[in-house]
Amino acid sequence: MHPEVEAGRGAVVGRFAPSPSGPLHFGSLVAALGSCLSARSQGGQWLLRIEDVDTPRCVPGAAEGILRTLERCGFEWEGPVVWQSARGGAYRDAFERLQAAGRIFGCACTRKEMADSALARDGTRRYPGTCRDGLPPGRAARAYRLRVPSGTLSFDDRVQGTIAEDVAADVGDFVLLRADGLFAYQLAVVVDDAEAGVTEVVRGADLLDSTCRQILLQRLLGYPVPAYAHLPVACNVAGEKLSKQTLARTVDGTDPARLLVDVLDFLGQRPPADLAASGLAAVWAWGLGNWSMDKVPRQRTRPAPGYA
Ligand code: GLU
Repeated sequence: MHPEVEAGRGAVVGRFAPSPSGPLHFGSLVAALGSCLSARSQGGQWLLRIEDVDTPRCVPGAAEGILRTLERCGFEWEGPVVWQSARGGAYRDAFERLQAAGRIFGCACTRKEMADSALARDGTRRYPGTCRDGLPPGRAARAYRLRVPSGTLSFDDRVQGTIAEDVAADVGDFVLLRADGLFAYQLAVVVDDAEAGVTEVVRGADLLDSTCRQILLQRLLGYPVPAYAHLPVACNVAGEKLSKQTLARTVDGTDPARLLVDVLDFLGQRPPADLAASGLAAVWAWGLGNWSMDKVPRQRTRPAPGYA
C-alpha cells in the first residue's frame, strides 16, 4: 500500500481504473471525474490504476494516451500509477488462498462445448457445472473456476439503488484463472482495490452486473466490501453505447474546461452556463465545491449530447 494512503486510513479512498483497450473517451471521463470528485469532495484520496491484466485486449500506446488526456484535463492522482500487468504475484496469492480453502476447481470445458448453455445477464454463457465434481476421464484442466455458493447477494448502490443477484443461478461458477494463463478481471480488481485500501468504487453502470461476483470474492477473501456508485453510461440518442473511436475523437478535439463541464452536466450536477469560459481551474473548484452523488441520474445509460 502506498504510504500516503496508509496514513489516510479511515478516510475515503476512491480510484479510477481504465482498461487500455483504446483512447480515453467521454464515457471513461464520466467515471474519472465522478470517482475523483466523489473522493476529493469528502476530503479523500483518488488513485489511478491501469487495468492491463487482459494483455491480449490492450492496445499499444493506449495507456500512455489515457494518462496524457487525464493530465490535459487537470486530473491529479495520489501516489504512483498501479499497473495490473505487474501484479501477477498478488493475484496468485489470492488465488492460492481460495484454492487452499477448497473454493476452486479445474475445468476442461472449451468455449465450443459450452456454446449451448444459457446466457447470463451480461451476455456470457452461464457455466453448466460440468467439471464441478471432477474432470471428465482423460481430460485436463484448461481454466480454474470459483465454486460459487448458492443464494442471493445484494448491495445498496448509491446511484442505482438496491441490486440483488443470485450469482450461482445467473452466472454459475466463474473463471478466475483463464485457459491462456491470465488471471480474470474479477479477481484482479478485487485484490487491487483491497490492497490499495479503496473504500468506494465509482464507475460505469456497465459494470453493475459484475459487482455481486466481486462482493462474493471480497467475502471469501476476507476483504472489506467498499461502497458502490454506478454512474450512467454515455450512449447516443438512440440508446446505443457509443464506439470508443467516435467518442475519443470528440474528446481529443475539445477544450478540457468545456469537456469537464459537459461531464458535470451529464452527471446531473447542473453547472452554471458560463463555467467553461472561466477556465479549467474554475471548473475543478466548482466541481469540488458542488459535487453531489444524489444529483446523479438513476439511469444505466444516458445520451451524451454533442458526443454522439
Ligand atoms: N477497467 C474497467 C473498465 O475500463 C473498469 C473496472 C472498474 O472500475 O472496476 O471498464
